[in-house]
Amino acid sequence: MVIEQAKEILKDIFGYSSFRPMQEKVIEAALNKKDCLVLMPTGGGKSICFQIPALALSGVTIVVSPLIALMKDQVEALKVNGVSAEYLNSSLSEQEQSVIIERLHKGDIKLLYVSPEKMNSESFYYIMLQVNVNLIAIDEAHCISSWGHDFRPDYKKLGYLKKQFKDVPIMALTATADPLTQNDIAIQLRLSKPKIFKDSFSRPNIFIEARPAYKRKEVILDFIQEREDESGIVYCLSKKNTEDLSRFLRSNGVSSGFYHAGMDPSLRNRVQNDFINDRIKVVCATIAFGMGIDKSNVRWVIHHNLPKNIEGYYQEIGRSGRDGMPAHALLFYGYQDYKVLSSFNEESERKVILNARLDRMLHFAESNHCRRKLLLNYFGEWTMDNCGECDNCKGSPSLFDGTVLAQKALSAVARLRGRLPKELLPKVMTGDRTPDVVAGGFDVIKTFGAGADVSGDDWERIVNQLVSLGYLKVEYQLGSILALTPLSDKVLFEGKTVMLHRLNEKIKRAKKVTRKKQITASSFDQEKGLFERLRQLRRSMAVEQGVPPYILFSD
Ligand code: ADP
Ligand code: MG
Ligand code: ZN
Repeated sequence: MVIEQAKEILKDIFGYSSFRPMQEKVIEAALNKKDCLVLMPTGGGKSICFQIPALALSGVTIVVSPLIALMKDQVEALKVNGVSAEYLNSSLSEQEQSVIIERLHKGDIKLLYVSPEKMNSESFYYIMLQVNVNLIAIDEAHCISSWGHDFRPDYKKLGYLKKQFKDVPIMALTATADPLTQNDIAIQLRLSKPKIFKDSFSRPNIFIEARPAYKRKEVILDFIQEREDESGIVYCLSKKNTEDLSRFLRSNGVSSGFYHAGMDPSLRNRVQNDFINDRIKVVCATIAFGMGIDKSNVRWVIHHNLPKNIEGYYQEIGRSGRDGMPAHALLFYGYQDYKVLSSFNEESERKVILNARLDRMLHFAESNHCRRKLLLNYFGEWTMDNCGECDNCKGSPSLFDGTVLAQKALSAVARLRGRLPKELLPKVMTGDRTPDVVAGGFDVIKTFGAGADVSGDDWERIVNQLVSLGYLKVEYQLGSILALTPLSDKVLFEGKTVMLHRLNEKIKRAKKVTRKKQITASSFDQEKGLFERLRQLRRSMAVEQGVPPYILFSD
């Protein structure tokens, strides 16, 4: 009954004739006061999921949103449609804020956007106690997870909401959450039996391609000149990159602008508006550009540099082809970028996680496997199917049947469930009794040394591929512990074929498993002590960083 009302609001206020498949279900759950976790790709239409319940229910919906610009855009768009929406954040004066708060008390506001800082403030807590809050929506909810790619400490404090406002349903929404982050969001927000809505992250209209960063400026110019009437975004690593590249493009007759956080806000807005209104075709930008930009005819996205992680990359390419028409994503990767990015991570206390994410990004870029399959497995949509359409599917990379190798690796992980660090699997396969292998007790299993016919370096490549392809996954306990996935069984028990690429060394004659290094009792004890201490250190660091307990205590 109520959903009928929701459909009317969709037509009357937003002017759309029907819901997208997932929206209706989410709205129904929200109207029934259920906690929800909504995972939809960028452009999937998440906003309507909380905006319509806000209008259908009595009282006010509070929306937590991480960026002032984003709040402003959404509120302005709602006002244009005649919805009484406002925002509260540090960009408003005291005076302006108190006017809004007064209206809030009168029940005059249906949707109130607030910054996480505001949400966590004592004054706002008392306001919330006094007004009728029908729903709390947490947009860009991945910001709450230190596993997510865009962690904001202020989001973390939002866990208090469920304790203080037990009866108010919470809707957490994000476009980018791998399974680890998804669980973490639900745990941190203390969602009670959340309904999880997950739309496929597949964006079949985007052609995905990656190339080594060789002569990239020229390649980019060619690419753009071949697409005269199309607009697109070139993401660059540095502010200087954006300016240099934009200048280079202009000097070659391309109408282009640049955008980064170091610019004057009015100039930045002008570039953004010029782009949205098709006055310039190309924006060379840092990742500061694009969040919340609703331009449907972006035809291509180029990454001039390697992105920091797959979440960010996927969100950025997702800004192309929002109208569903064909779009093109071109990624350049180089080892130089990788080095620069990992040096940035050096200073962070979350270095281990950040580097692991960066490594996954590089493996993706370098891979000869189907790009779409790699991405979907990254986001936990376990699939073995090739898309048939990306650069790697269209090209013919030389793959070989690596089923037996995969079976060996997977069965070692199965035996050492929850304990085996990723970097030690190659040693377990080659039968290399190094102190860390012995200390972990990894040399006592039956498959120890079962892959001694392949070199350790090649095993490293194999393990990376098995992770990227979704046959293994990594659970970070500040070390990278390997675990099985839903695809593992298909290899271990159903005899599915696993194709692999890039072994540098030809498979060697099986050699006997030998001790590489004679380990004396005392050096062994020493090493073992060190290893234990390292584990303890990792654990206490993990607790500090708020690692979800189910991960921490899984072994
Ligand atoms: P997200 O937050 O998931 O990135 P938005 O909520 O910003 O996506 O919506 C993306 C675009 O899709 C917007 O232009 C929005 O108006 C449009 N949209 C959302 N729902 C519908 C619908 N049911 N029918 C048509 N267009 C829709
Ligand atoms: Mg959104
Ligand atoms: Zn493919």
